[in-house]
Amino acid sequence: MEKETVYDVIVAGGGPVGIWAAYYSAFRGLNTILLESSESLGGQAVYLYPEKVITDIPGIPAVTGRDLVDRLIQQMNSVDVKSVLNAKVLSITKENDIRRVLTSRGDYAGRYVILTPGLGNFVPNRLGLPDVDAYEGKGVYYFVKSKEDFRGKDVVIVGGGDSAVDWALELSSVAKTVYLVHRRNEFRAAQSNLKKLEELGVKFVVPYVVKSVAGNESLERVFLSRVDDGSTLEIEAQSMLMMLGYKLDLGSAKSWGVDVNPDGILIDSNCMTSDPKIYAAGDIAAPREGIKQKLLVIGFAQATTAINNISKNLHPYEPTFVHSTNIKSGSR
Ligand SMILES: Cc1cc2nc3c(=O)[nH]c(=O)nc-3n(C[C@H](O)[C@H](O)[C@H](O)COP(=O)(O)OP(=O)(O)OC[C@H]3O[C@@H](n4cnc5c(N)ncnc54)[C@H](O)[C@@H]3O)c2cc1C
Repeated sequence: MEKETVYDVIVAGGGPVGIWAAYYSAFRGLNTILLESSESLGGQAVYLYPEKVITDIPGIPAVTGRDLVDRLIQQMNSVDVKSVLNAKVLSITKENDIRRVLTSRGDYAGRYVILTPGLGNFVPNRLGLPDVDAYEGKGVYYFVKSKEDFRGKDVVIVGGGDSAVDWALELSSVAKTVYLVHRRNEFRAAQSNLKKLEELGVKFVVPYVVKSVAGNESLERVFLSRVDDGSTLEIEAQSMLMMLGYKLDLGSAKSWGVDVNPDGILIDSNCMTSDPKIYAAGDIAAPREGIKQKLLVIGFAQATTAINNISKNLHPYEPTFVHSTNIKSGSR
């Protein structure tokens, strides 16, 4: 019988932070596998904002979500990482010093695990209206796969936060009309962006909530109700983008044998969880001390810290960290 591979590091979750963790782990010379539950790598940057421009990555003035992920994957492919798609991590069991990660595509043994499942499986908040649910994928969307899907259409965007406002900005360049519907008069978004929306001719529909929708094969009309006086409004629209936020799905994290709080998986300053063989980084990680910041640079730094700790544990006589300028990839 073939001997089972015991990986130095199993990275669970192939979003930006998981891809970086897998790269950095292999770059430090560790035998690494990356497990991703969906059919492609990239996480939120690909599923939630592929075409939005990120401007707060040091040294990269502007990059879209998709391009950033493409670059991360290119970087990861420059080292020796095995990645497995459609492998949802279900549970983790202890076998002495080994952690066995059970996924929907078999199980994997590792000396260390880094948990990087981000928001989990992106469970978008829904309105709970059956007729809206019936048009999901037929005009009603919770994610934007491509801006082109909205070209020439009358689009209703529902929500009052940054995502709703950002997508209103993005889609105004391709859509025929953009309506921004929010239940309050005030938005939780940057004032400068709200001003831009006005200049771009986006129609603010406040304070209104969605009551129902109608159409034939696909969405044709959206019915709204005014919050203060109950009066109704009908908008002709072929697309409705629901930007009502996402739930943190800690469901499976609870069966991974690590301590959690409502913010995520608890980590110490070395990004170690309550199990010394399991680390966490990125949006899932909740620092025991200090503030939680759901930002790419923070996740990248946490993953780097986790890997350097793991490397130190596995190879105590090697340097804790290295400068990439001084070494070839794959060395410690
Ligand atoms: C609209 C929007 C705009 C943003 N803009 C910025 C910005 O400008 N700058 C910035 O720094 N940050 C921004 N962010 C935040 C940034 O995207 C997140 O901080 C980042 O995606 C976190 O990366 P992650 O890898 O931890 O998690 P995610 O991106 O959530 O990736 C997690 C991955 O793990 C997978 N997964 C989940 N559960 C499992 C499981 N059980 N088994 C295996 N795989 C699993 C998921 O499918 C996913 O691929 C933005 C976020 C949003 C929503």
